[in-house]
Amino acid sequence: MNRILSTRAAELKPSATLAISAKEKELKSKGVDVIGFGAGEPDFPTPIRIREAGKRSLDKGETFYTPVAGTLELRKAIAERFSKDYGLKYGVENIVVSCGAKHSLYNIFQAIVDPGDEIMCLAPYWVSYPEMVALAGGRPVTVDTSAARGFEPEIESISDKIGPATKAIILNYPSNPTGVMYSIEFLEKLAELVEKKDLLVISDEIYDKLLFDGGSYTPFATIPGMKPRTVTVNGVSKTYAMTGLRIGYLAADSMEIVKATTNIQSQSTSNPSNTAQAAAAEALSGPQSEVIEMRNIFERRRDLMVELLDQVPKLSFVRPQGAFYVFVNISNFLGSKGMLGSSDFAAHLLEKYHVACVPGGPFGSDDHIRLSFATKEDVIIEGIKRIKTACEELRHE
Ligand code: PMP
Ligand code: GLU
Repeated sequence: MNRILSTRAAELKPSATLAISAKEKELKSKGVDVIGFGAGEPDFPTPIRIREAGKRSLDKGETFYTPVAGTLELRKAIAERFSKDYGLKYGVENIVVSCGAKHSLYNIFQAIVDPGDEIMCLAPYWVSYPEMVALAGGRPVTVDTSAARGFEPEIESISDKIGPATKAIILNYPSNPTGVMYSIEFLEKLAELVEKKDLLVISDEIYDKLLFDGGSYTPFATIPGMKPRTVTVNGVSKTYAMTGLRIGYLAADSMEIVKATTNIQSQSTSNPSNTAQAAAAEALSGPQSEVIEMRNIFERRRDLMVELLDQVPKLSFVRPQGAFYVFVNISNFLGSKGMLGSSDFAAHLLEKYHVACVPGGPFGSDDHIRLSFATKEDVIIEGIKRIKTACEELRHE
């Protein structure tokens, strides 16, 4: 057999974020004193009440298949959160639970993309969007943004890229990798454009509860007229420190999308783990105080990381307003030591200074690296010290 792989599998790139996390863990297990700024996951243990709910479910013998789209208990808890937090009314029939928000997104692209359809990604974007679109046979179309405008896209730049093949636009605020939020004015102008051009919006709101500086969140579906056009994606991974339990979900008015994603799931993974669904139901319906506590800790870590980064000459960044990443411009160092792009810079940091971070290239900007502050304060202090030394040494070459 001379051609084993399909073209789409052969062309698919592995997830850069997960690759760095794996490398980080491998080095740690070998005893290397590595600073982990790679992982995009909370370092807190899952709150006890949530773990207990998973255990109780197992003890009750809930080890069978559940409905493909998720247990009624979990879908009710999701619908209630949307309603309580944002006044968004979704019925349980509008919700599909999957194995992580990543899986929800995958199902959505499989459901809406035909070969050649264009899906708009606002750069810098999360690494998996373009790959998932391409895997579904679509064409990811990138709209660039600038740090000078806080990475908020210009409506004209979006409008210019919309053509007859454009089907949907992906939003993600606070953003992975920049941590920036979009203004209400931007969201409203975008809504007008979406209406005019008859587009769908996939709004990845996985970091909605990780918002700093007292900011309040506006889901895209709450912008007047947008609910019928929006597929909202969220999950419990980040908000409740449950990354390994793999529960994410989508909510959509469109029953076509709900049915198609459920069918796709019924022919692939079936329901997500029954135990994890019970834990997620408790996460969403129980007391929400840990969410605030974790958010406050992330905010202090954000403050610390940006304060230290400010003292490193020739690095620049936009202050993140949410999530747990700083997207740092390293372009002043490209060219030195034969470093051509963000991968070379990240490799240099890892090899010489044992600091793991994710190169910006797979996020759509080769002038940046992404640092995650989902780690302890002493690790942040030591890590930025090492980055400072690296930058000073590069400057003096
Ligand atoms: N969207 C964004 C922007 C993310 O950063 C992540 C990272 N985990 C996901 C979706 C997927 O999260 P999960 O599959 O763990 O729910
Ligand atoms: N989303 C996280 C990140 O960007 C976790 C890894 C992943 O799912 O890609 O680092």
